[in-house]
Amino acid sequence: METNPCNKPINGGSSIPSRVSRKTKPDATIVNINGVKVGGSDIVVIAGPCAVESREQLFETARSVKESGANILRGGAFKPRSSPYNFQGLGEDGLKLLGIIREETGLPIVTEVMDTRQVELVASYADMIQIGSRNMQNYPLLKEAGMCRKPILLKRGMMATIEEYLMAAEYILNQGNGQVILCERGIRTFETSTRNTLDLSAIPMLKRLSHLPVIVDPSHGTGLRWMVPAMAKAAVAVGADGLIMEVHYKPEAALCDGHQSLSLDEFAQLMADLKKIASAVGREISSLKPSHA
Ligand code: PEP
Ligand code: MN
Repeated sequence: METNPCNKPINGGSSIPSRVSRKTKPDATIVNINGVKVGGSDIVVIAGPCAVESREQLFETARSVKESGANILRGGAFKPRSSPYNFQGLGEDGLKLLGIIREETGLPIVTEVMDTRQVELVASYADMIQIGSRNMQNYPLLKEAGMCRKPILLKRGMMATIEEYLMAAEYILNQGNGQVILCERGIRTFETSTRNTLDLSAIPMLKRLSHLPVIVDPSHGTGLRWMVPAMAKAAVAVGADGLIMEVHYKPEAALCDGHQSLSLDEFAQLMADLKKIASAVGREISSLKPSHA
């Protein structure tokens, strides 16, 4: 039976082999997002605003992060906000803007889906579909994502153990979609000085237990713009296959998560610094260009 180093079964004690397990599949899975490969030797950087707010905000941010070397563009059109009175995202209009800037920049798009009824719609615009922390245990949504033929970025639930997280990924693989990327984005602890506690130990643990690529979100993981570069570098140093970070052309004016969004200049500087960390651990910041660029 598959066990983690604490000798605890990772599949709830059942003897059914886990599709996510490295014992089932020793080779690392490489997820191909329109030509950008995650899980190989190159480190992939996903950057962009928390939410798509306007044409100007998205396009200026996208052009700049591309210039700085980002490989994939992020931007939420359907936002899971803690308050129903906060900006909820532009919905399909946001997806349309993502589609336009994708054509212009050649950057593949990742955007979140929150509802089983919208998986098809989101998949028709996105190159990769994000399932957010709040939906990590939304099993109908995981099954729907497993039936769609797009790569899935599955973020760790903010209160999920490693076992629960891997079993959530198992739902997607079990439906026939093996193109899953895991993302550590911080967990809830007693600590309140950061938004979440970024669990960097999850990276070597997930990579030991599973063949799936693992990336890190230091933006939601800390909630603090000034801390994002330090944790991004740390993530690369401990073996992350990539990063997803919030970047905004005017962080102080952002409708969502401005306090944890890097400015365009801060992102450019961080990309230069990350190259040094990557080479110190024998990796490179990906220079692969998307296939349709
Ligand atoms: C996001 O990446 O836009 C997001 C809402 O993150 P999380 O699901 O990790 O909170
Ligand atoms: Mn956000």
